[in-house]
Amino acid sequence: MDDIYQVIVVGGGFAGMAAARELGRKRISVLLVDANNYHQFQPLLYQVAASQIGVSAVARPLRSVFRRIRDVRVLTAEATSIDAAAHTVTTADGTRYQGRILVIAAGAVPNFFNTPGAQEHAYPLYSLDDAVRLSTALTRTLETAEREGSGATDVVIVGGGPTGVETAGALAENIKYIVPKYFSPALADRCRVHLVDMVPNVLNAFSPKSQAYARARLGKLGVQLHMGQSVGEVRPDGVALSDGTDIPARITVWAGGLQAGKIIAESGLAQGKGGRIDVTPELRAPGVEGIYVLGDSANITDDTGAKLPQLGSVAQQSGKWAARNIHADLTGGTRQPFRYSDKGYMAMVGRGAAVAELGRKRIQVQGPPAFASWLVVHLALLPGVRQRIRALSSWAAGYLTHSPTQVFVAKPD
Ligand SMILES: Cc1cc2nc3c(=O)[nH]c(=O)nc-3n(C[C@H](O)[C@H](O)[C@H](O)COP(=O)(O)OP(=O)(O)OC[C@H]3O[C@@H](n4cnc5c(N)ncnc54)[C@H](O)[C@@H]3O)c2cc1C
Repeated sequence: MDDIYQVIVVGGGFAGMAAARELGRKRISVLLVDANNYHQFQPLLYQVAASQIGVSAVARPLRSVFRRIRDVRVLTAEATSIDAAAHTVTTADGTRYQGRILVIAAGAVPNFFNTPGAQEHAYPLYSLDDAVRLSTALTRTLETAEREGSGATDVVIVGGGPTGVETAGALAENIKYIVPKYFSPALADRCRVHLVDMVPNVLNAFSPKSQAYARARLGKLGVQLHMGQSVGEVRPDGVALSDGTDIPARITVWAGGLQAGKIIAESGLAQGKGGRIDVTPELRAPGVEGIYVLGDSANITDDTGAKLPQLGSVAQQSGKWAARNIHADLTGGTRQPFRYSDKGYMAMVGRGAAVAELGRKRIQVQGPPAFASWLVVHLALLPGVRQRIRALSSWAAGYLTHSPTQVFVAKPD
């Protein structure tokens, strides 16, 4: 057993990083455990997958984030189990760490909804590893298709939410601008992007106006929409839809949903929708003392009781808020129920085009103004100055030259 910490935080994503930062600034000793030694910025993973920005723009070493906050110790290790009653976390090498309070901010994992073949053959897009794997597969597919000289080179994206729409837009733009220039116009003619979802509209959580804009933009980029269709099976060479349609494809991207990971499932804590923990208004796991669950690992409600979506802003704010409640726990103060400052939603639909529904009032913006809001928000959310500079320079270069930023070594099959 290692030393006893005041707080152990599992996960250095938006939620865990915000919580650890706030706690460390309040001089509370924290052990921050993450399987990776970096914070990954999920909202831009699709751009890494599409080779539009480099890995170093979306990942920041956790030790760099906390270099000046001496009360936070960063531990790179996979947490394999949590004992909620004993307040311990065990890591893959068998070491047990004890905290007075545990914060579970371990994010989520893809939910394949038991779709045959999906886990084996589809590419999820939830981590930096996923994004690099997908980018390499896409590059390799283009190289192979060019060598072969004929045959369709389609990509199917499952899930018409923001991740699916943003990925579809980015890949379709690559086919339009990059494939003809770096490979050949003939190869670009053989590439298509398909977007599939069981609900009838893309961006289902957005307003009809935003949905119509996204649909039109995707259509303009040549994305084929298969709305109101579920995927019956994913194979290495395509997907079968529920209505019997078969889409031959070399790559299937899974943006179809999330669920809480194994560590939550095996924690003994009562699970709600998506396997997540239905937390109390103070962001605590119900029925146990000293356990907070944050971000994508939790079902969080706002002060009106409405369920909040799995978003970076919800995760980040829940992290900060939980830190204040933990400070109250440790100093005899009073915990406060979480109040979410609603920033709204946004999604990119190709470069220069976006939809945004801003603030609690959902002020609707489309096109270049929405894109400008998207830029400002994402630059502000990126985890460091260097990441901001790298992302900005990649975006500027991409706009001016329509060239890929990230290069992957894709050996021929
Ligand atoms: C492709 C994509 C695009 C998105 N776009 C947007 C967007 O535009 N705007 C927006 O607001 N939100 C967006 N989101 C949602 C947003 O990124 C998430 O809601 C947010 O990252 C959740 O933060 P979190 O801290 O709960 O989890 P995460 O950010 O997932 O962090 C979890 C951390 O826990 C670590 N971890 C997990 N299990 C273990 C373990 N067993 N042991 C140790 N460490 C562990 C992981 O390594 C990770 O660092 C997007 C999500 C995705 C996947």
